[in-house]
Amino acid sequence: MATVNKNFLKLNGGYLFPEIARRTKAWQERHPGVSIMRLGIGNTTEALSPAVCAAMKQKIDKLSSRETYSGYGDEQGDTYLRDALVTYYKEHWKVELRNTEFFISDGAKSDAANIQQLFGEDAVVAVQDPSYPVYVDSNVIAGRTGSYDETDFCYQGFVYLKSDLSNGFVPAPPKEKVDLIYLCSPNNPTGAVASREQLKVFVDYALANKSVIIFDSAYSEYITESKYPHSIFEIEGSRKCAIELSSFSKFAGFTGVRLGWTIIPHELECEGTEEGMLNRMWNRRQCTFFNGASNIAQAGGAASLSGEGYKECRALVGYYQRNAKVIKEGLESVGLSCYGGINSPYVWAQTPSGLTSWEFFDLLLDKCHVVVTPGSGFGPSGEHYVRVSSYGHFEDVVSAMESIRRNLVI
Ligand code: PLP
Repeated sequence: MATVNKNFLKLNGGYLFPEIARRTKAWQERHPGVSIMRLGIGNTTEALSPAVCAAMKQKIDKLSSRETYSGYGDEQGDTYLRDALVTYYKEHWKVELRNTEFFISDGAKSDAANIQQLFGEDAVVAVQDPSYPVYVDSNVIAGRTGSYDETDFCYQGFVYLKSDLSNGFVPAPPKEKVDLIYLCSPNNPTGAVASREQLKVFVDYALANKSVIIFDSAYSEYITESKYPHSIFEIEGSRKCAIELSSFSKFAGFTGVRLGWTIIPHELECEGTEEGMLNRMWNRRQCTFFNGASNIAQAGGAASLSGEGYKECRALVGYYQRNAKVIKEGLESVGLSCYGGINSPYVWAQTPSGLTSWEFFDLLLDKCHVVVTPGSGFGPSGEHYVRVSSYGHFEDVVSAMESIRRNLVI
C-alpha cells in the first residue's frame, strides 16, 4: 500500500494566502456590492514593458516558422540569457560571474523550494523570522524539522533568526552552528535591507562553519539607497559559501510570464564537496526534474536586462515605489508605525493597540475594505505586524489610503 510523505502533515494550517482569500470572500458575501481594495498579495498589476513584449512577439514569430523554430533550449537556460545576466551583474553591481554559474528557471519560488535538495537530510536550517514561507515549508516537507509547536509557533529543530525592531529587522547569525541559512534582502515581508557589514558577518560565519547561505535577491531592483548591496556576491568570500536566487517577477512584471535564475558559483563548497560539485549537482537536479523555462519568457527576460527594456522595467519598479511611498505616508498619517517601503515594495506596519495580525487584518477589511497580509503568517516574529503591498494600481492605492484615513479609528 502506498503511504504519504508524513512531513506534509506537519505543515501548520493552511497556506497564508488561501486563508486571506477565504476571509475576504466570506466578507464580500456578507457585503455584496462593496468594493474591496487589495494590498495583500505581492502580485504585479502593471503592463509588461513594450521592449519586453516586442522581444516575446518576435520569438513567437520565430516559433511559427519551421526554418526558425526551436524546441528545448540549452541545459542551464538559453546561453544568450545567461550571458545577458553576466553582463547585468557586471555592469550594475560590479560582480564577476560566469555563464556556467547561472541556471534559468521558471521563477524563484521553485528554486527557493527545491534548492534544499542539494543538502543532507539532517542539515540544520536557519531562517530569518519572519520570512517568505517557502523556505520553511520546503524544509518541513523534506523532513528537516520536528513537529509544529502550537505554543511558540515554531517548528522544532529549526533555528529562527528573530528580526524585530531591536535589530532593525536584520538579524545576526545564530549562536549555534547551522548548515543552511536563508536570507532575503530586501526582505519579504519586513522590507528591511541588509548592509554590506551585516552580510559580511554572515559570510564570515558561513565560511567558519562550512554553512551555505541561500540568498534571495528577488527585490534587489527596489533598493533606492546605493550603499546597500544588491547581490550576496558583492561580499568578499561569498563565492565559497553562497547561492543566490532571483526573479524577473517583481522587476519586469513576470509574475505570470514566469522566469527566474539561480547562481551556484563553482567555488561553492560544503562538507565533502570538491570544487564545482554543487554546481554540477544542481545541473543534474534540474536536468532530471525540469525541462527549462519557456523560450518566449527567456526572450522577454533578456530584453528586460539592457537598453530600452531595462529603462522601461526600471520605470515599472518606480511605479510600485511611488505606491510604497503613498502607503507609508498614508499609514503613518493615521499614527501607525511603519518600516520598509523605501528599498522595498512592502511596508511593514505595526498593529495598533496590541491587536494581533489577524485582528488588525479583520479590522482593516471590515472598516476600511482594505486587504493586507497578516505578519504572523510569515513566522512568529511577524505577530503584531501586517505587510502592506505596493503591487496595485496607483489610483487603488490612493483610494485605500483615503479609506484608511477616513475610517480607521485606533
Ligand atoms: N522570493 C521572494 C522573497 C518572494 O517574495 C517571491 C514572490 O513573492 C518569490 C521569491 C517568488 O518569485 P517568482 O515569481 O520568481 O517565483
